[in-house]
Amino acid sequence: MAHVSLFLIQGERNKITKDPLIAAPKVAYIIRQLKRTEEIELFRELYGKQVFQISAYMDPIARKTRLATKMRDYDNTSTRISDFEGEALNLVKLDDNEPDNPYGQRLRDVYPLADVFIDASTSDSAKKTIGRFVKILFGYNFHSPSRDEYGMYVAKSASLRSVDLSRQVGAAVFSPKGEVKVLGCNEVPSPSGGTYWEDDRGDAREFKIGWDTNENFKYRLLGDTLKQLEAIGLIEKKYVEMSTRDFLASIKEEKKVDLTKRLMMMDVIEYGRIIHAEMNAITDAARKGISIDGDVLYCTTFPCHLCAKHIISAGIKRVVYIEPYPKSYATELYIDDISLERSESDLSKDRVHFEPFIGVAPYRYRDYFEKSKRKDGDGKALEWKNGAPKPDIKIKTTAYIDNEFAYLQYMLSQFAAKGVMLSDEDHNISNSEQGYNRDTQQKDAKTDVEIDRQDKVGAIPQPDGSASRD
Ligand SMILES: [Zn+2]
Repeated sequence: MAHVSLFLIQGERNKITKDPLIAAPKVAYIIRQLKRTEEIELFRELYGKQVFQISAYMDPIARKTRLATKMRDYDNTSTRISDFEGEALNLVKLDDNEPDNPYGQRLRDVYPLADVFIDASTSDSAKKTIGRFVKILFGYNFHSPSRDEYGMYVAKSASLRSVDLSRQVGAAVFSPKGEVKVLGCNEVPSPSGGTYWEDDRGDAREFKIGWDTNENFKYRLLGDTLKQLEAIGLIEKKYVEMSTRDFLASIKEEKKVDLTKRLMMMDVIEYGRIIHAEMNAITDAARKGISIDGDVLYCTTFPCHLCAKHIISAGIKRVVYIEPYPKSYATELYIDDISLERSESDLSKDRVHFEPFIGVAPYRYRDYFEKSKRKDGDGKALEWKNGAPKPDIKIKTTAYIDNEFAYLQYMLSQFAAKGVMLSDEDHNISNSEQGYNRDTQQKDAKTDVEIDRQDKVGAIPQPDGSASRD
């Protein structure tokens, strides 16, 4: 889909400027919607920070009901929404992940990569969260970080201390008023308390040992199971005469089944040497005698079931997370203790609220909250960063058009190599009115740096749009 979108963007630009290689002024392209991480990665590679991924959160049950209602409205075989709920749930699951399809949808992987997360639970909450982001994007000077944005940025910062071989996770515990208590990251515990730092004597972090012990234990568990099954004659001897890894490879070859993705035992997490970020924060609080009873825990990843019981027991009342963690059985094991609804709508229930993060992502925190003076020469407060609402996009040239052009040329060559020829109507690379001449193009195009200079001396930007980014 991302490739098709690139051709379409170029086509739309061609309609506006009559040349796909000239930027269109004051234009934004909306792509709905991304299903795989490769798509947003490609857009960011080509267009940089003028791409915004907006991830909209809606409770899965509400999503299912909304989808079933739409299906009912289009299908007159039944008037009951409940008749469509099964199919709707399947669609939600397919969107989330298609494990057996290497080119399948992976919404759960792409969702956390957003620049901003909005609350789409109701049209009011969507308007409110989008409206705030648009004002921030247009340089409004007086939206400061929310408690959640602040807490999550700190948690993200804590995560970067980890050199775990699988992933970096950070946790930050704050009081409900927004005061920081303790931080944690997923790292190997140190005998002097806490976790190892880079310059510690006896540093025994995972990379020093050279492997992930949890990974080793998974194969040991499987090997042991196979041996026990062979001993009572349930499987052939040949399967235990090879290593467990060779066994898995042979099954993949013979049966075309990847057991590593199917076996529940491959999801075990308790044999890793690292302490998880949430537990690291909780044990640091215990070590330092800091009460975290009734507090809020920000965590870059949804807590696992092991952390969940510590969180509940420590008295944390609210957990805010970004990434999902499919290996977590937290909600299944603690069904009576955890609520997945946003706490604003569920304050009456006496449970620990595990909520998705809403707001500007840590990835964009500095872009939109780090500012210099917010006053004019007379000391008067300035409402907008640039004096008036204007997209605060950190791109100063139209070099992205070169990136886009080069990439689409490459794609066309890939299509041609496979015998697929696109007509000129399908793309605009070869039908630019002036033909492709980047020397001429760059000479004619004014960069935004030039526009800024013109603005300052009162000049009016050229109406041909050559100076603007789109
Ligand atoms: Zn955990």
